[in-house]
Amino acid sequence: MRLLDGKRLSKQLLLTLKDEISKTYASSLKRPGLCVLRIGEDPASKIYVNKKIQTCNELGIQSSELHLDAGITQSELLKQIICLNQDPAIHGILIQLPLPKHLNSSSPLEAVSPLKDVDGFHPTNLGRLMIGEAELIPCTPLGIMSLLDENSIEIKGKRAVVIGRSRIVGRPISLLLDQAGATVTVVHLQTSHPEALCKEADILVAAAGKPNLVGKNHIKEGVVIVDVGIHRTDSGKLIGDVNFEEVKELASAITPVPGGVGPMTVCSLMQNTWKAFCRLENIRADDS
Ligand code: NAD
Repeated sequence: MRLLDGKRLSKQLLLTLKDEISKTYASSLKRPGLCVLRIGEDPASKIYVNKKIQTCNELGIQSSELHLDAGITQSELLKQIICLNQDPAIHGILIQLPLPKHLNSSSPLEAVSPLKDVDGFHPTNLGRLMIGEAELIPCTPLGIMSLLDENSIEIKGKRAVVIGRSRIVGRPISLLLDQAGATVTVVHLQTSHPEALCKEADILVAAAGKPNLVGKNHIKEGVVIVDVGIHRTDSGKLIGDVNFEEVKELASAITPVPGGVGPMTVCSLMQNTWKAFCRLENIRADDS
């Protein structure tokens, strides 16, 4: 069984990106700028935002965190987003989810300019993905595709099963796998006989948000497993949606938790910020 090591791959991809950013800065004195909006005091959001800001700093991306009070109104939040849309030093805007309960998440996500939507959640970007003309792709699915590609996992002609159909992970990854030539089945809470469907998969993506949901009864020998879930146990250990111990002898490849999909998600965010910057500043990647 091969481990699909997202930590190692993301390090390698980020080094290449760092080099491109520094060459571009040397020739144009321009740097990509990313602003992360954090609203309220969700502890996990704080950790995720810090990780993103730290990675920006390591790469030479100008980053800022706009931390807004948990009690902010919807209209005040929209005004802040409009200011960021107009700021020429900011090429990427990310709204850290989840938002406090009184805020509706659709309208802030739609208020972000599609050109600066580095999370790829704006309906324009999701629509472009749907028609196969993607510009900015949601980070976790983009990272998964990169991990499969860099590990030479064949997708064309394969049976893929995606567990979960969220706007962030399940739906976009099922589209990307379909566009890469897989025949895709989506399994969700209303699906009958999910285990039997999962057992047909050559590639199984688990994105249900349920710890240890996938065990040996869900898989066939030789399957490639992408475990998107991330959960902290009472003892502080990080685990995924897949029962690693149960499946490791049967699978041909699997992403570990931690160190699989998570680092690839941050890596994709940086790549999207770079992409948005190049587009907004009319820089071709090979100009540098
Ligand atoms: P979500 O709750 O928005 O969506 C979960 C989906 O799974 C829903 O469509 C639901 O219908 C389906 N589902 C739930 N239980 C199921 C079951 N028993 N059988 C079949 N389908 C089921 O979650 P999300 O935002 O898509 O995230 C999923 C998981 O991935 C979470 O654990 C989250 O923390 C993790 N995640 C990790 C990363 C990363 O970078 N590693 C990024 C995003 C999300």
